[in-house]
Amino acid sequence: MNLYEYQGKKLFEKYQIPTTKGILIDKNLENDYISLNELNINFPVVLKSQVKVGGRGKAGGIKVANNKDEFMKYIKQLFNLTIKGVKVNKILIDEYVPIEKEFYLSFIIDRSKNQVVFIFSPLGGIDIEEVAEKQPDKISKLFFDYELFDFQIRDAILKVYNEKIDVVKQIENIALKLFNLFKENDCILAEINPLVLTKDGRVFALDSKIIIDDNSEVVDQYEEEDEDISVIEREAKVRNLAYVELDGDIGIIGNGAGLVMTTMDLVGLYNGKPANFLDVGGGAKAEKVKESIHLVLKNPKIKALFINIFGGITRCDEVAKGIIQAFQEQSYSIPVVIRLEGTNKQEGKAILEQLKELNKEVFFVENAEEGAQKVVSLIK
Ligand code: GDP
Ligand code: MN
Repeated sequence: MNLYEYQGKKLFEKYQIPTTKGILIDKNLENDYISLNELNINFPVVLKSQVKVGGRGKAGGIKVANNKDEFMKYIKQLFNLTIKGVKVNKILIDEYVPIEKEFYLSFIIDRSKNQVVFIFSPLGGIDIEEVAEKQPDKISKLFFDYELFDFQIRDAILKVYNEKIDVVKQIENIALKLFNLFKENDCILAEINPLVLTKDGRVFALDSKIIIDDNSEVVDQYEEEDEDISVIEREAKVRNLAYVELDGDIGIIGNGAGLVMTTMDLVGLYNGKPANFLDVGGGAKAEKVKESIHLVLKNPKIKALFINIFGGITRCDEVAKGIIQAFQEQSYSIPVVIRLEGTNKQEGKAILEQLKELNKEVFFVENAEEGAQKVVSLIK
């Protein structure tokens, strides 16, 4: 698993590797965006798009803002930017560091040799591949098995950089700390590019690239933040609901992943576009059904809802109760198509009679196909 820059920098802090202090803002969390105006910022700041691809600088994903106007302008720009096919949904508002010199430093597992490699170059800030091609003599590599001694690191650095001994010491120190981080977090790669020397003589990690072995337990803690998920998907995770957001306008709720997917396919067959996948699961209780409806209808794109239940362990009367509760709690005005089949169907239908008082457009259908057809017709 690839970490975001801000996650890597949090690890740097933990391992006492000098790095910049930043504030993370999220496109999906409006509050953050609104409160931006009230943020107390010492300009200049660097605005850094948080995407898991490299070359952000070249792609225009990194901006220096000198005042509030620039700041607001760049934030908007960056949130509308796509870098190598990845949308920018998070921005790190980072301290601006006046740079004297940029270095490259990393630890990587070399699979062919089954060793770790330490790589250092006094030509940082650009792709290391580019340096390797144009000035291979400016790259120092140290292969080692498991143990790493201070003097080995120092020698490796000195091979390509020996201008300021005090700077060499700082780099050596950072390298040793980065190696601890690398070992303790089951890394495949831990890279700092650029590692910078500031105008006032301090060495800082200005960027981070960390890749953790997917088989390691360490990745679990990052899973939550992993992909750029929507606010609704995030809430679904918290509530333990199986929800996936899609591009369409027809809300879909069903029980059992297979049934939900079939429902989506049927809707597609009649040229409708599902807005989501939501599986209430087996034996869902009223509460869960209610929560699911509230969750799905948070998506403002939805124009109609199709609830398709085939009860086995799931009881139709429980589902019906959940539906009623949801519409009692909130008066949704969109049309709803319901198919209820299986255990306690009659009881369920009886309960659902009340729904007609809560929602003007309720349609009961006998099977999934009819339901798909109906819900699509309601959109057009
Ligand atoms: P990448 O292009 O995705 O690797 O993003 P980086 O974080 O490495 O940033 C690219 C370049 O932007 C760096 O090499 C720096 O030259 C510049 N940059 C990033 N942060 C700062 C900063 O705080 N101060 C200054 N002066 N330049 C920065
Ligand atoms: Mn970089």
